[in-house]
Amino acid sequence: MTERNARTLAEKATYNLGELAPTGEQVLDLYPVLAKCQGCNNCTKSCQQDLEVMGYISNALCGNIVEVANKSFNCVMCGLCAARCPAEIPPHNIALLCRRLYSRYLVPSAQHLANRVAEIEEGKFDAELAELKKMGESELRHRCSERGIEPQSSNGGYQDVSA
Ligand code: SF4
Ligand code: SF4
Repeated sequence: MTERNARTLAEKATYNLGELAPTGEQVLDLYPVLAKCQGCNNCTKSCQQDLEVMGYISNALCGNIVEVANKSFNCVMCGLCAARCPAEIPPHNIALLCRRLYSRYLVPSAQHLANRVAEIEEGKFDAELAELKKMGESELRHRCSERGIEPQSSNGGYQDVSA
């Protein structure tokens, strides 16, 4: 690896995620080198995960953070794409930034989860939990088997996940 490629591999912006905006301008601000992409496709050809690296770099340039996050989901951060980039772009670190922006700001909130947390905080399940806490193991197992949604082992019993 040449000294220049080693430098590209290590190129990583520092930021406080809570102070960022989930926009293309933000990504370009932290990684202005992104604008130097030559469209050579070396990054895609070198990716051991068969990711569309040039594709997500193009999406990053267009400010499509959701698409970058989706296309780079299986990135293992090996850095081969960066080591082969003639423009000294670190695609893996740009994708990491986009996945972080996506997770922090763009993923739709899970309303059903928020509803359940509110129910727990209101004490809706307090009596039932108190009852469960008093039960012995066999009674708990019986109660569990009645649910019908638990994973069954091949012999009809419940899988032993304690090992
Ligand atoms: S760092 Fe990610 S995108 Fe780059 S070559 Fe490795 S797996 Fe592919
Ligand atoms: S290797 Fe670099 S310059 Fe070539 S397409 Fe990928 S990011 Fe762009």
